[in-house]
Amino acid sequence: MNKVIIIGAGIIGMLTARILLKSGVAVTIIEQGYAGKESSWAGGGIISPLYPWRYSEAVTQLALWGQQHYPEVLHEIHQNSAIDPEYIQSGLLYLNIEDELTKAEKWEQQYHYPFVSVSGESLKAVEPGLNDSFEQGWLTDNIAQVRNPRLVRSLREDILNLGVNLEQQTQAQSFIIEKDQLKGVVTDKGSFYADKVVVAGGAWSSQLLESWVKIPKIAPVKGQMIVFKAEPGVVSRIVLSKGRYVIPRKDGHIVMGSTLEFDDFDKTTTEDVLAELRQEAIRIIPALENYTVEKQWAGLRPGSIDGVPYIGEHPELKNLYLNAGHFRNGVVIGLASCQLLVNQLLGQETIVDDQAYLLTEERLVSDSQSIDLRTAI
Ligand SMILES: Cc1cc2nc3c(=O)[nH]c(=O)nc-3n(C[C@H](O)[C@H](O)[C@H](O)COP(=O)(O)OP(=O)(O)OC[C@H]3O[C@@H](n4cnc5c(N)ncnc54)[C@H](O)[C@@H]3O)c2cc1C
Repeated sequence: MNKVIIIGAGIIGMLTARILLKSGVAVTIIEQGYAGKESSWAGGGIISPLYPWRYSEAVTQLALWGQQHYPEVLHEIHQNSAIDPEYIQSGLLYLNIEDELTKAEKWEQQYHYPFVSVSGESLKAVEPGLNDSFEQGWLTDNIAQVRNPRLVRSLREDILNLGVNLEQQTQAQSFIIEKDQLKGVVTDKGSFYADKVVVAGGAWSSQLLESWVKIPKIAPVKGQMIVFKAEPGVVSRIVLSKGRYVIPRKDGHIVMGSTLEFDDFDKTTTEDVLAELRQEAIRIIPALENYTVEKQWAGLRPGSIDGVPYIGEHPELKNLYLNAGHFRNGVVIGLASCQLLVNQLLGQETIVDDQAYLLTEERLVSDSQSIDLRTAI
């Protein structure tokens, strides 16, 4: 295989490109906007599923592989791009997980993932800015973070340096099929040919495929975020309570997220959510009352059932591959999913058993109207 086209330059398209380029394959990425400006830009960059024990083995396997390999890969990307993605092993403090402690502890033992219970003075020592009303927390130092806007910029520079052909502001619109095999992609800027085509179009993946083949159950799930202009030391770890989290960045900015909204492809932000996220952040860290909210934004997660991405060749069209549907975990599970897809493309042994991610009949539907993730989460 000499040439691959990837549709979509989010983290998934760009990491896939990186691995292929390093294996000697020529890669063209077709991106309708600009590289790394959609969900991959908008996310929190936590390198862990929020509550890892709630996920299936399929998600866990990819997450653990990513957590193990990210430090080295991000170091290389930093070196090659001269942009620091700000990988920090900040750790994560869980609050209010009493109800699911048994499940969490079982998970922790199974995957050798140490959590330490902290209360009273030790809790205060761990995170001095925490609201006094919290009496107990569970701490893991294993969890790291990256800063999304920096991650996607560094990745873009890295793959440009590795020789990718990046076609931005170019929309993939249809496919070139000869003798039941995919040969290329038609865009609003002309046709592109390759041996294989990978759809990594995030939340838009099913839209593009709809008129051609049965589609994966992927739909947009909006997440709104805000960022406080604070200073270093206000919070030192990621702190998670009742599904809301604060993430301290290196320069003192503190990100607060996020909502789960089923709003089609609408990315508008609302005053109500701004107020709610600000209030929740202050509930966790009262000192945030003193800092201004610098920015609010929203991104569209590629929602899928149980967050298990679709990785593999489409059963109805030879040479059409998918790597999409990473939902809330595209950063943490993205690296492994891209390595797995490249294993498949190059006929290599796969890093994990790929059965759970394949595009089987039961994971595909004919019509995007039938995808309702509200009932699937
Ligand atoms: C608020 C929020 C918080 C999050 N927090 C975390 C977190 O802490 N940790 C974590 O692991 N994950 C997190 N995520 C999830 C993660 O960001 C996503 O799973 C991941 O970014 C998906 O990457 P992607 O490349 O598939 O999608 P995207 O980044 O959306 O990229 C898809 C690209 O495809 C392009 N495209 C689509 N259709 C076409 C077409 N026809 N032609 C050309 N280009 C096309 C789009 O323009 C886009 O650039 C979060 C997401 C959000 C929104």
